[in-house]
Amino acid sequence: MTALSVEGVTVSFDGTMAVDAVTLDVAAGEVLGILGPSGSGKSTLLRSVAGLERLDAGRVRWHGDDITALPVHRRGFALMFQDGQLFPHRTVEENIAYPLRIAGGRGGSGRGGAGRVDELLELVGLAGFGRRRVTELSGGEQQRVALARSLAARPRMLLLDEPLSALDRELRERLAGDLRRILVDTGTTAVFVTHDQDEAFAVSDRVAVMIAGRLVQVGTPAEVWRRPGSAQIARFLGYTTVLEGAAARLVDAGAPGAIALRASGVVVADGGQVAARVVRSTPAVDGARVRLAVDGIGEVDGVAGAGLPVAAGDVVGVRFDGAGIARLGGSSLGGSPVGGVVASRGAADDSPFVDGARA
Ligand code: ADP
Ligand code: MG
Repeated sequence: MTALSVEGVTVSFDGTMAVDAVTLDVAAGEVLGILGPSGSGKSTLLRSVAGLERLDAGRVRWHGDDITALPVHRRGFALMFQDGQLFPHRTVEENIAYPLRIAGGRGGSGRGGAGRVDELLELVGLAGFGRRRVTELSGGEQQRVALARSLAARPRMLLLDEPLSALDRELRERLAGDLRRILVDTGTTAVFVTHDQDEAFAVSDRVAVMIAGRLVQVGTPAEVWRRPGSAQIARFLGYTTVLEGAAARLVDAGAPGAIALRASGVVVADGGQVAARVVRSTPAVDGARVRLAVDGIGEVDGVAGAGLPVAAGDVVGVRFDGAGIARLGGSSLGGSPVGGVVASRGAADDSPFVDGARA
């Protein structure tokens, strides 16, 4: 069942199009990730759903009802940001109980409120933290409190804008998994904005990719990852090279069209399927990152396992690893799947490959 419908939502600032005719549905109980580079209009789209932006065009519906003109506080949505915006001079439980007190009649006062706070602390993995001051907590713990507070009044939908972006990488990965579990366990309908691919894929049921104000692809994480809709989307997802024609078929014999490669898909290996010359090699914790000139393909980024000697000029074997290869042409929302490939090639460049790093 569709909960949220965004229909042709357009927002511009002084003539600059921040959100360009975005149409999108979110099902009840679904976690939808909005993934895009910085400045692509993700926050503006989220704020439009929340009721914080004036739309140039389009509508927002909730279970079919037009809420485009409904004020923010009457939409029943909760918002959570990168900076959890907690009250620093209050305790954890006071912060979490705050929306319950505002909600008043909805069981927010007295023992019911306290029970709800304990339940929320348990949910976010902070049982027993109620009396602490939020200033005594780590950044990750503070975001757990912010999440508990967002869920306290049982919002009809939760809107999250880069809630993990201020945290360091390892913590972010762990919290992304916890966040998904909490949203799924509570059946919360949520829209989750991030610029981080791994995070979007870890948290979301479906991912909507936004580039320059437009929605360019919507699908499950696996669909978007395995079948990026265009070269531009593939590059944003971290694929460094896009190949077409004979070069593509050297990597993936059955490829019907263009393919995209990430460094992890190009592996230096004894007895690999094609030969390559090492252009340069940079040590990494688990071996080396390499730039390779591969026979019949051209220069691509790759990886070499620890202990394999790879010096510039060496001739090595290369194996292609399916986990780092995508076929382009997943259902893109406009533009031709390989449009970006052609556009990124110089007119006089007839090489069979396109180098993402240089494009
Ligand atoms: P994202 O969240 O994907 O980084 P934003 O939605 O914040 O992107 O911004 C999209 C575009 O709109 C950017 O070019 C940004 O500079 C512009 N923008 C956002 N908010 C405002 C504003 N209040 N006034 C003027 N320009 C804005
Ligand atoms: Mg933003």
